[in-house]
Amino acid sequence: MQVAIMGAGLSGLSCAITLERHGIKPYIFENRKEVDDRFVNGEIFLNALNAPIEDTFSYLANEFQIYLQPVGHIKKLIIYSENEQATVTGNLGFSVIRGRHENSLCKQLLKQLDTEVMYHSQSTYEDLLKNYTHVILATGDGAYSEKMGNYEKHLTVSLKGAIVEGKFDKYTTMAWLDNSFAPKGYSYLIPLSSTKANIVTAYPNYPENTLLDSHLLWNKFFSRVQKDLKQVLNITDAFKVTEYVIGKCHHGRIGNTFFAGNCYGAIMPFLGFGQFPSIMTGIHTAYDLCGKGKYHDLNKPLDKSYTNALVLRRAMERLDNKKFDLLVKSLNGYIGKTFLDHSSINFLSLISHILKPVINIK
Ligand SMILES: Cc1cc2nc3c(=O)[nH]c(=O)nc-3n(C[C@H](O)[C@H](O)[C@H](O)COP(=O)(O)OP(=O)(O)OC[C@H]3O[C@@H](n4cnc5c(N)ncnc54)[C@H](O)[C@@H]3O)c2cc1C
Repeated sequence: MQVAIMGAGLSGLSCAITLERHGIKPYIFENRKEVDDRFVNGEIFLNALNAPIEDTFSYLANEFQIYLQPVGHIKKLIIYSENEQATVTGNLGFSVIRGRHENSLCKQLLKQLDTEVMYHSQSTYEDLLKNYTHVILATGDGAYSEKMGNYEKHLTVSLKGAIVEGKFDKYTTMAWLDNSFAPKGYSYLIPLSSTKANIVTAYPNYPENTLLDSHLLWNKFFSRVQKDLKQVLNITDAFKVTEYVIGKCHHGRIGNTFFAGNCYGAIMPFLGFGQFPSIMTGIHTAYDLCGKGKYHDLNKPLDKSYTNALVLRRAMERLDNKKFDLLVKSLNGYIGKTFLDHSSINFLSLISHILKPVINIK
């Protein structure tokens, strides 16, 4: 078996590590000069989205020997709407660093791999098909899946972010639900240390949003963050992602080609969480190749989460700022803790079950 992996990101590396552990040496092709060779940003793993798994990192370590260290445990999540604020505390998840940083998530994965990654790769999928018995597409987007007619696009998102200097609690993540600067979207702050944080605002590129002045929205968001933190923040770096595609493959495997990570449709449409599903699709691809299960079956819980997250996204898009106020207010205390800190309750599944009758998803 000669397995080629296209893309040394979360799904590609998780797949490669798992294959190696089962005695299969993969061939890994990365078109950049190193792993995680992009802007630095903070990302989070929210335990509630992966229920009934209680702790994502110990699950990955115990079940799959994938070892990850966060930059912080999320002990507190503060959610703001236009006029309300909710605080949820507990073992909520983990924050990590992505991009050009010595402790980035992909650098951590790379250390667990023996096989050398082939950088600066120019090989196309067609090249790999000719030379390998199996090809795993793990390029971080749905481009190949779409080209092969194997993809349903659900939305594209514009993200604008910055690294800011200030004073932060490493254990507190913040989110904003406010249509005045993130129409039908969301904004957040993830601390990278006690003096640095990543702030991001993201909204879908629907026709009604295309005429919006992204600069103005960003300024509104930035002022709001500074107001809520009661600090003047200094921007040290900025990034922009336009047309970040969220969608899903029809088939995770076609012949001996596997679609992993965002190529598969691992990113959840609700708040753009894709790290855990990407790692899992990488592991599942390797499991299929090692005869430990069928990719299609192993991915079923992820598929369900994707659909639930899509229901939640469509519901969220119907909320104006007054409704966001009501929602955020209700998340204070027992309700917020029940949904976000009690992993025995599958929050995505429960909410989507309630909302499905009114949200029309094909
Ligand atoms: C700004 C931002 C914030 C996010 N925040 C969160 C968050 O808080 N929580 C969360 O869970 N998810 C978050 N996500 C989503 C998450 O990052 C992705 O879902 C996840 O990284 C996808 O993993 P992947 O393996 O599919 O791709 P990646 O990890 O992106 O890896 C793809 C790799 O393929 C390489 N590649 C691309 N094309 C080729 C080619 N032709 N040949 C060879 N190699 C190629 C790339 O260089 C890259 O190394 C965020 C995404 C963005 C952009």
